[in-house]
Amino acid sequence: MTNQITVLGFPRIGEKRELKIALESYWKGEISLNELNSIAAGLRLKHWNLQRGAGIEAVAVNDFSLYDNMLDLMVTLGAEPERFSDIKDPTCRYFTMARGDETHIAMEMTKWFNTNYHYLVPELHGGFRFGAINPHKILEEYREAQLHGFEGIIHLIGPITFLSLSKCSEDVRSALFDPLLDQYTVLLEALQPLGAEIVFHEPSLVCDPTPNDLSLLKIAYDQLGTMGRLWVATYFEHSNEATAVLVHTPIHGLYLDFVYGEKNIQSLEVLGKSNKHVAIGIINGRNVWKNDLQSSLKQLNEITNHIPKERLYLSTSCSLLHVPYNLKHENRFNAEVQELLAFAEEKLLELSVLSKAFFSNSGITVNTHPKAAIDGAVQQRLKSLTPNDFKRLTSFSKRQIMQQEYFTLPLLPTTTIGSFPQTANIRKLRQEFKKGWISQTEYTHAMKEAIAHCVDFQESIDLDVLVHGEFERNDMVEYFGEQLNGFAFSTNGWVQSYGSRCVKPPLLYGDVSRPKAMTVTWSTYAQSLTTRPMKGMLTGPVTILNWSFVRDDQPRSLTAYQIALAIRDEVDDLQRAGIKMIQVDEAAFKEGYPLRREHRGLYEQWALQSFLLSTAVAEDDTQIHTHMCYSEFTDIIETIEAMDADVISIETSRSGNRLLRIFADVGYTQEVGPGVYDIHSPRVPSVEEMEQQIHTLLEVLPTNQLWINPDCGLKTRNWEETEAALANMVKATKAVRATA
Ligand code: GLN
Ligand code: ZN
Repeated sequence: MTNQITVLGFPRIGEKRELKIALESYWKGEISLNELNSIAAGLRLKHWNLQRGAGIEAVAVNDFSLYDNMLDLMVTLGAEPERFSDIKDPTCRYFTMARGDETHIAMEMTKWFNTNYHYLVPELHGGFRFGAINPHKILEEYREAQLHGFEGIIHLIGPITFLSLSKCSEDVRSALFDPLLDQYTVLLEALQPLGAEIVFHEPSLVCDPTPNDLSLLKIAYDQLGTMGRLWVATYFEHSNEATAVLVHTPIHGLYLDFVYGEKNIQSLEVLGKSNKHVAIGIINGRNVWKNDLQSSLKQLNEITNHIPKERLYLSTSCSLLHVPYNLKHENRFNAEVQELLAFAEEKLLELSVLSKAFFSNSGITVNTHPKAAIDGAVQQRLKSLTPNDFKRLTSFSKRQIMQQEYFTLPLLPTTTIGSFPQTANIRKLRQEFKKGWISQTEYTHAMKEAIAHCVDFQESIDLDVLVHGEFERNDMVEYFGEQLNGFAFSTNGWVQSYGSRCVKPPLLYGDVSRPKAMTVTWSTYAQSLTTRPMKGMLTGPVTILNWSFVRDDQPRSLTAYQIALAIRDEVDDLQRAGIKMIQVDEAAFKEGYPLRREHRGLYEQWALQSFLLSTAVAEDDTQIHTHMCYSEFTDIIETIEAMDADVISIETSRSGNRLLRIFADVGYTQEVGPGVYDIHSPRVPSVEEMEQQIHTLLEVLPTNQLWINPDCGLKTRNWEETEAALANMVKATKAVRATA
């Protein structure tokens, strides 16, 4: 690096999601591989130019991917799963690993640390043999940059992170370390003629590394560090344990996250005594707000107490992959919101301004940092909360009796998680309404028809607890965000989620309040059609928070409480309107857990309090349900219990009753719907199979504690599958009841 600014990667999906469009056309056979590759090359060139425009001389190379960097790395390292080896064409094999086909199940995807980006999980096993390394992609991209006159810096996921994110047992992991390191060594040999600097991304090192992890780290970088000018990058948290090791390896420098890893200041004390270079991650790569340049400058100046400027670089905290592209195409924001924002392109400019101010004391006049929108009434309400607002005053055992009297449900009550199939027709309807092509009256009428049909169907198969079907919702967070103050929505603020898929997270920019009821009309209409209980359906505060870009001028806990108050008011409005069963979904409760154990207690505390604040307004005979889209509760079961929901539905259908056992083990008393079939597959399980599944669940929990439901919402399924599966589910339940 010649100039002292650098980035850890740039969003590759494109300003107008060009890569998404190209990929999807390629998959449909509408464009050729050559055309796809030339669009990709065009994007790389454009992104390099933007980096150069900001004064970055060594641009990021190999941060680009047609699908996923982890998948690229598997190809590079000769670590493709054998089960795809029958596909001879490399491109076809690459996309089949990612997406599957009739004869190959796609590789598993999972979230990249605590982001919403999904990588493909390497499949290793005992006796796994790496194939030949394949440096082709990296060499090509580097030469391509050179050809355009750029100096490049190669980005690569490092061995420690690669291994720790692979799907395999601990034994296999340690057995494969040496062979893996050999692969990296051969790779570096192949790259050596380029004379390029290489940044190894090792974010796993921020996740409480064990002594064993650290000794492998030392071995790895003692060996690799001599093979060129190497950097090791960590992000999303501090990596002080790793720094203490890396400082004694021959690497050239480290990238440290000073946005999410404030404690990295301790690393600097160690590094100060060495000759290592340090790239300071100062521009937030995870959020959309403008940098407070004044305070960044102050922070940087403090850093120079430890490391002289000559050895410092300014960087983004992580790859800019996690933020939208630029602000140019935004037309939905009011001036107040617009003023707060910086997307990827704007962040490059911030880096440039900051570096001028820092390195050449150019004395930039930094404007005062814009402030989030404050609402006095919301602030006041938060201040006046008392401990009683955070708990239901009657114990569950007493509530349970009152609720039984109120609802008179049969044993093993049957229900669903909320959404019913989102057909093309329903989506079209919502879009036409949004665009103003159909009137409110027409829209309401059509929605009511969809609800009525859904209610009719549920009655016809004899489900016990009904739902309205969520047809009015595009997304479980956006739907609420759009009706709350304090949220804004972008026009083009897409962020890659995986492959060609992007999400457009809401921007939570100010104090949150609820101008009016959000779901009461739909729920009461649905209730009016039936005498069976109609379950109200809300998204919980923690999930709304975890799936948005959240203001960073106050602790997340306070923002969560503000959302909780809005949801609380909705719960109250629903129960007053006669909706006495209310589900508050917390799909993202678990994924919000901090990467470091030391912060988990605090998170659990406020996440729990937020849920309680939103639900504790329920009367004793109002039954609060919650739903969570995962199955592993072992490490969080006490928090789940403390959420004090009367009924929780979860996603354990694929594990039989194994993962349910923890509920029995801790003596969990509230009711549980573990999910009797997997909605992520189009397969319709037979009555016998579900009967069997219910019996399996009954081995763990007693009849009066179990609910029978699918394991998640049905919005991604079609009606045919849904009708068949739910009808079988009810039949299976009746058969079990008859023998109970
Ligand atoms: N109620 C939502 C639905 O059924 C829950 C979805 C979720 O938790 N992911 O779609
Ligand atoms: Zn779910």
